[in-house]
Amino acid sequence: MKDGSRGRLYLCATPIGNLQDITLRAIETLRRVDLVAAEDTRRTRKLFSRHDIHTPMISYREENRLEAGGKVLERLEGGEDVALVSDAGIPGISDPGTHLVSMCLERDIEVEALPGPNAALTALVVSGLPTGRFAFEGFLPRKKGPRRRALEGLAGEGRTLVFYESPARIARTLADIEEVLGDRRVALARELTKRFEEVIRGNASVVRERIEEEPVRGELVLVVEGSTVEEGVTEEEALGEVVRLRADGLSLKDAVDTVAVKGSGLSRSRLYNLALKHRE
Ligand code: SAM
Repeated sequence: MKDGSRGRLYLCATPIGNLQDITLRAIETLRRVDLVAAEDTRRTRKLFSRHDIHTPMISYREENRLEAGGKVLERLEGGEDVALVSDAGIPGISDPGTHLVSMCLERDIEVEALPGPNAALTALVVSGLPTGRFAFEGFLPRKKGPRRRALEGLAGEGRTLVFYESPARIARTLADIEEVLGDRRVALARELTKRFEEVIRGNASVVRERIEEEPVRGELVLVVEGSTVEEGVTEEEALGEVVRLRADGLSLKDAVDTVAVKGSGLSRSRLYNLALKHRE
């Protein structure tokens, strides 16, 4: 399987919680390679002891990716095989794995992926939301302004949206989703494959209220229904609907909320500003 005298990089998927969720091929590869580059060596050590793996490890994480990446390349170029594992799931999804893959490909070093668990897909399939077309968005920006702008950019997205999020920010993110995307159906998947696994389903406001009462802990994936508006609804049409509802006696805010919730594909704030301008 080797390309000449050079080694190969194996992207090994590892469990996202339950240590049994690892393929036979991943165990065999982790035992066989010369070196394992691990994002979180403590977590990987637990996996190794469970599956009787004794391969030497090197830390490869965001903070040391250039230096550690250089060491890994040296070993690969010297003919050794290396496996990359992230702290959980498939390496290269929301972690520094992609940098190592690029470094290898630039030097014509073969890269092979061993599929396995992934938090985003696991959450998507239990969400109850459409799975036919989805968009993985990773982590939203932490700061409110950029986070809301990112959501505004997704307002017209018809695919189901999948986000990684932290327990500290989830209530604020749900509040922003309510405001910018409307009170859509969501599923909050927590601690997947672990003892306290839970999926909270409902509209964004309901899930937010529930976690404001009882804060959630652990690792989270948030799945959000895509925009339900038919393609082709223009700003003018959405604005026209707001004007009609105003004529029926609704306040500007209620009219904007109704059209945005129905899913004009426009964010509330964009529609509100357009309606204000129209009134002037
Ligand atoms: N590469 C990984 C994968 O393929 O799933 C994801 C790495 S990303 C840095 C880690 C994030 O994935 C966590 O912050 C959390 O949002 C999500 N996550 C990981 N394990 C999870 C689990 N067991 N339950 C829910 N979310 C999880």
